[in-house]
Amino acid sequence: NPFFAPSRTRGMNVRTIADLGPDERAAFFDRDAGVDAVRDDVRDIVSQVHEEGDVALRRFAEEFDDVSVGNIDITDAAERAYEEIDDDVCDAIEDAAANIRAFHERQVPEDWRDDFEGRELGRRYRPLDSAGVYAPGGTAAYPSSALMGVIPAKVAGVEHVAVATPPAEEVNPVTLAAIHVAGADAVYQVGGAQAIAALAYGTETVSATDIVVGPGNRWVTAAKAEVRGDVAIDFLAGPSEIMVVADGDADAELVAADLVAQAEHDENASVVAVTDDETLAEQVVDAVDEQADGREREAVIRAALDNDASGVLLARSMSEAVLFAEEYAAEHLSIQAADDESLLERIPSAGSVFLGPYSPVAAGDYATGTNHVLPTGGNARVTGGLSVDTFVRSTTVQRLSEDSLSDISDTITTLAEAEGLEAHAESVRKRFEE
Ligand code: NAD
Repeated sequence: NPFFAPSRTRGMNVRTIADLGPDERAAFFDRDAGVDAVRDDVRDIVSQVHEEGDVALRRFAEEFDDVSVGNIDITDAAERAYEEIDDDVCDAIEDAAANIRAFHERQVPEDWRDDFEGRELGRRYRPLDSAGVYAPGGTAAYPSSALMGVIPAKVAGVEHVAVATPPAEEVNPVTLAAIHVAGADAVYQVGGAQAIAALAYGTETVSATDIVVGPGNRWVTAAKAEVRGDVAIDFLAGPSEIMVVADGDADAELVAADLVAQAEHDENASVVAVTDDETLAEQVVDAVDEQADGREREAVIRAALDNDASGVLLARSMSEAVLFAEEYAAEHLSIQAADDESLLERIPSAGSVFLGPYSPVAAGDYATGTNHVLPTGGNARVTGGLSVDTFVRSTTVQRLSEDSLSDISDTITTLAEAEGLEAHAESVRKRFEE
């Protein structure tokens, strides 16, 4: 249409799902937020830490954080920070921590044994011995992420929980206080891929842990992918994402507020709204542009809004919107629609869900008690967020009586012999020899 000139030179435009080209569509679903591009660099960082230990940590602190690090272990500083921060911030940390603890205590699994036709079978749960938590802190400080990583581990019963957070002339005292309130046993000032490598392999100062968890930027995320296999990890939790599914009843200002909030995290963040209502879509675009104006982190917000995996999308129906949201498998899914529960039923893949106008993502980010360390990049298709489950291992236990073994002995011996494993069959028969 020659009379239609896009009125916006910056920010988002409304795009129609049906008109997206194959590459545009793929950008929404194959988002890796720059992680692949840093894999080679990260492999190099990880191997240097593995080989050189603390020396490499100090060198990378100079190179990437512009800090000459004295003590890598700053556990004592966390306790001091707790004594020194403002009372209102301290109260907020303790309030959030109590809510996070309560929600996670509800998740602690109980051992059980049941009778299965005479066979006593059960499951037993025990905490991992140690866990390493990454608390990001590059372009913004994330005391909340320290709470989200440490508290579930402690609630699960993990004995040794270590936290790594980026080095600084003075590491953010609020982050340190949160680490202390959460109950961490050790705190190290080391950031990025080098922190993940240190927690995975250990150095002179940092002890190696059984599992490395926590969110971070693309270097952190690529490092977790790199060490996975040598050590357990939670999942890949990279730059943040939000998907808002909205119908004509939604408030455009509130939808926009949640998009802008998520965009504020990282220039690689992805923010999407999808709706079947053209008027709402236009209003959201305008509101996002207005709300981004003049924000302290406006440059970060605008970069995130410009991402290939960000946009306001118009669907022909709410069914199409729901299918798109399911394929996207967002870290955060917000549903702003009259029949939110039935739409939710049709979106099985999402890290954390926020229903209705009074459930902003920020509530879950900080204070309701749910965890904000969540799978990104479509990983919500196969996993949920950080929880007590992340830090426990399950063991199956069984006790058979003579009769219950006898009842299934033919099944065992037949299958064992079909597999050519004669000694297996014999180990059962032996028990019934005169
Ligand atoms: P960060 O702590 O993740 O990263 C900072 C570190 O990155 C630095 O210490 C440095 O070592 C390393 N680094 C920076 N530039 C580098 C380079 N050029 N080469 C190698 N290493 C480099 O902090 P951040 O950057 O502020 O990012 C935090 C991220 O965590 C954001 O993307 C945010 O969206 C995400 N986040 C995600 C969740 C979640 O649950 N998914 C929660 C909170 C935060």
